[in-house]
Amino acid sequence: MKLTALDRCPSCRSERIRLFKKGTVEPQAVSAGDFKITDSHYGSRWTFFACRGCGLVFANPVPDPEAIARFYAALEDEEYSQEGEGRGRNFNVILKRLGRLVPAGSALLDVGAASGIFLNLARAAGYRVQGIEPSSALADDAERLFGLKLFRGSAEQFPGGEEFQAVTLLDVLEHVTDPNALLATLSPLLAPGGVLVVSTPDIGSLAARLMGGRWWHYRVAHINFFDRRALERLLDAHGFDIVLRRRFAWNFSAYYLVTRLLPILKGPALQRPLKKLHLKLQLFDSWEVYARKREK
Ligand SMILES: [Zn+2]
Repeated sequence: MKLTALDRCPSCRSERIRLFKKGTVEPQAVSAGDFKITDSHYGSRWTFFACRGCGLVFANPVPDPEAIARFYAALEDEEYSQEGEGRGRNFNVILKRLGRLVPAGSALLDVGAASGIFLNLARAAGYRVQGIEPSSALADDAERLFGLKLFRGSAEQFPGGEEFQAVTLLDVLEHVTDPNALLATLSPLLAPGGVLVVSTPDIGSLAARLMGGRWWHYRVAHINFFDRRALERLLDAHGFDIVLRRRFAWNFSAYYLVTRLLPILKGPALQRPLKKLHLKLQLFDSWEVYARKREK
């Protein structure tokens, strides 16, 4: 894979950048499988730089965006849809909070919709939903599982046409090579006063600092990490004011967690009992932010 050295921060364009953590990824060995949402190769990471201007931590040299786009287009992730129940619980919490800011009946766009678990719940909650998903296999899953017809491609390719009252960007921002470009694409799709929901790992969290290079959010698919300031700065630069900020807690089945920690235990014997057992993992190491688009 081609890598490009950056001489400035991809978010705020400051040249005050410094080495943050040396990488462990072998760029030539990277494949589509490394970009699975359920990838278990924790600890694999790019070389990261930190920006003194805004706090963003970003892969530098940065992997080729076109190669990454091809990986996502070819991505299949059966395990993701199998974890639907736990993810559904997380998503219902988000919908409950969103419902206080954007009423049901409004138009909602989910960017990086994967197999449609969130959109299906949003539709059930009364939103008029559309979704964007670059992976054909995941978009197929969304259609097969929930009858959802997602736009297949990137946010930049999405034709738009409608103004949305809500746009959701759930665990997407850390995957893109140019977060500025993504926000610049999404901001015009939102009606003034509309709400953007972002969830993303928090590099400033206690877990990230304690675990260092072993933090579980380090994986090949993750290219940017935000702390509170970096996220605030990016959203502000694109016309958003944060109205609600939460530390995020993920729900997983015990099977998912156990096999993440000990992949050797993967298999049918433990699958049945452990998949029934849901745990709430309170690591508080992700952001869940609701930001309102400023009126002009
Ligand atoms: Zn910066």
